Amino acid sequence: MTLKELRTLIPCERIGFNLVDENTQEVVAYAVDTSVADPFVTDRVSLTEYSLSEFDQNNTRYIPDLRLMQDQNPIVKRLVDKGFRSLLQIILTQEKQPIGTLNLFSTEIDFFTPEYHEITREVANQLAIVINQLRLAQNIRISNIRLERYARRMEILHRIDFGIITAQAIPELINPTLHELRQVIPCQEINIGLSDETTNEWVIYAAVSDRRTFVGQRIPAQPNLLRGFDDRNIRSISDIRLVVDEYPFATQWIEQGLISVLQVLLKYEDKPIGVLSLFANTTDFFTDEYREISVDVANQLAIAIHHVQLSEALQKGKDTLEQRVIERTAELTSAKEKVEAILNNSLDGILLANIDLQIERANPAFEKLFGRKIDTRGKVSLLNMVQAQDAKQVEACVQNAVQGFNNNTIEVQAKREDGTTFDAELSIGYVAGDGFVSTIHDITARKLVERQLRYQASIQSAVADAVITTDLNLRIQSWNEAAERLYGWRADEAIGKTLLELLPPDFELYQSVDDLERAFSKNEYWTGELRYPHHNGEILHILCSSVLFRDTAGDPLGILTISHDITSRKKAEEALHNALEREKEVNEMKTRFISIASHEFRTPLASIFATAESLSIYRHKMQPEQIENKLDKIRQQVTHVTAIMDDVLESARMQGVYVNFKPFAGSLNLLCRDIIQELTEQSPERVHYVCDTPQQYISFDPRLMRQIITNLLSNALKYSPFGEPVEVKLVHTDRHVILDVSDQGIGIPEADLNRIFEPFHRAGNVGSIVGTGLGLSITQKAVELHGGTIECRSAVGQGTTFTVVIPVPAQ
Ligand code: ADP
Repeated sequence: MTLKELRTLIPCERIGFNLVDENTQEVVAYAVDTSVADPFVTDRVSLTEYSLSEFDQNNTRYIPDLRLMQDQNPIVKRLVDKGFRSLLQIILTQEKQPIGTLNLFSTEIDFFTPEYHEITREVANQLAIVINQLRLAQNIRISNIRLERYARRMEILHRIDFGIITAQAIPELINPTLHELRQVIPCQEINIGLSDETTNEWVIYAAVSDRRTFVGQRIPAQPNLLRGFDDRNIRSISDIRLVVDEYPFATQWIEQGLISVLQVLLKYEDKPIGVLSLFANTTDFFTDEYREISVDVANQLAIAIHHVQLSEALQKGKDTLEQRVIERTAELTSAKEKVEAILNNSLDGILLANIDLQIERANPAFEKLFGRKIDTRGKVSLLNMVQAQDAKQVEACVQNAVQGFNNNTIEVQAKREDGTTFDAELSIGYVAGDGFVSTIHDITARKLVERQLRYQASIQSAVADAVITTDLNLRIQSWNEAAERLYGWRADEAIGKTLLELLPPDFELYQSVDDLERAFSKNEYWTGELRYPHHNGEILHILCSSVLFRDTAGDPLGILTISHDITSRKKAEEALHNALEREKEVNEMKTRFISIASHEFRTPLASIFATAESLSIYRHKMQPEQIENKLDKIRQQVTHVTAIMDDVLESARMQGVYVNFKPFAGSLNLLCRDIIQELTEQSPERVHYVCDTPQQYISFDPRLMRQIITNLLSNALKYSPFGEPVEVKLVHTDRHVILDVSDQGIGIPEADLNRIFEPFHRAGNVGSIVGTGLGLSITQKAVELHGGTIECRSAVGQGTTFTVVIPVPAQ
């Protein structure tokens, strides 16, 4: 029966039927039938608003006049305002629980008669039965849906279980699971992130979505990433927009239009290995059931993923192992090939022997060296490869090798199959537990060279002359004892240096090394005299013979030089030469002296002779004064001759080897004054004498110094017109004393200037001025004996200056 039909039985203005919402315990308007133009409907009213105590045992409450209650209840007040006056209300129950209400309103006071009450109760009972049936049907439907979902969930979990057993790889496992899950939970996106321990990141591994997914995205494993998961490992955010501050990474979800999220941690043995995330575009999308499903799936996935990860790791391990085996095999093959190549191509004999020294294998070089084939069945001992006397040495070497010492190389006499022998170097290496490797190097050629060298060396050290060998770049290779004695360099100092740096030859004799080389390369030998410095700097005269030597193949190897010392012979030659020169000079001087002396002496002697003659003839006719005059003339001439004789003697003395040089400390100033006075008795004013430090005392030979000053001053007076002044200047410096004698006389022609110090040389312009040409040569000698120098500056007709510089020893 409908509410409308009920209203035909009970003609009131309004009948409302409400149901109780089981979940909220609220009373919700379900249906209304009314004749009132503006029906009044209260959507939901909490059951607690109903004062259940006001209902009788028939669940009925009757209010005959609502106006009397309008102050107690605002709803009643509104009903009164709408014009209602009486209300009949029945609560429908099931097992004493209210399930709905039936409300009848009338605008008349006390409208509902007992009959109406009864009809209403009857209808209410009927309604309660109907509602119950409806509810049951509803419950069954809900249960069915739940069952279906449960079955689906079980199916998924079953498939995941199946995946655990069958899946070979994680994608195979995850992708179908996410699809299945989305069938059950129809959200916008489901994805799974896995922890990547190698990079310490979380990576979005797979997703099912109706939009762009986050697959491949990597998030660093920050501590707050896993914050907010509860003890069931769930993190549920009903509106992401409200918690963006807390989870900054959630911004991107909002950008994709996702609003609620449900996340479940995948854990294995309490360690998070992944996160299952479900996103929806409405708030509060994820129900308890969704949570349960997600937790179940996540738990199963965790086990499955771990399982697959393990088997993947196992597979990977297996793969790398296989790869390693392949690589090692390749390495071994290549190593073997290399060893084979070495064995086959080595010029040295190489053999492998077992622990008892029995030869097991040998390379072609060995077979060639020893003239025998190695037959593995033959069992030949390594000891048979050497002369009997060397076997002990080989055994000692084997022992060394076994004990792990290096340097197991010895020289032996190797023995061929035909009994002949050769020099060999034998090395032994121990291959732990397996035997020995031995190499045999033929050193016949080296030994031969060594013997030759020893032989040569013995020859070289036996000879008295220096024997030096160099390579083609003149680098010294050998240096015998005689070379050490001759040049003063020890062999160890000389060997390795070049001949040119150790013994630079004197290129006064030879233009250059090139010259020498040219001379040498023409004939491949060279003989000649050279001057070489000894280690101590002394110059040696050496007679050298060099020859190019070649190896057996005829190629040039180096240069052998024999040096013979001829220094003493050279010195004797030099002395003889000097003596001859000297004798020549003396002879020349004698000739010159005789010619001058005869000329110089002839004139005064002729004059003496003439005067003496006239005296002896005319003496009796002469007055005593006349006789005295003649005698005076004779005396003058004799004095002149004597002076010449003195000069000559002095000059001869000076040329001699032993000149008496006797220095004393004295005043040169006083000596000058003395001589000036002596020479200028008649005209003392002619000489202008200056001395800077009159009190100075220096060391000089007074006799020789008197010669110097007298000669220079008398020349200046003699070779300048009478009356012309002569200047004498004496200057002392801290290292020298300088004497200048200047005149304004006839001067010396240029042609004579560099000859005036030679004995007997006189310039062409002397005219009748007397002289012997000996004074300056005596002077020069006297200056040199003092260690000084004499110089002359002169111009004809203008005058002459002589400057004498005598060194003064430092104080
Ligand atoms: P001599 O006895 O001839 O003077 P010296 O040996 O003293 O011999 O001088 C050599 C020559 O040097 C002189 O003959 C003269 O020609 C020249 N001579 C030396 N001193 C002077 C001078 N002061 N003026 C010009 N000529 C000079």
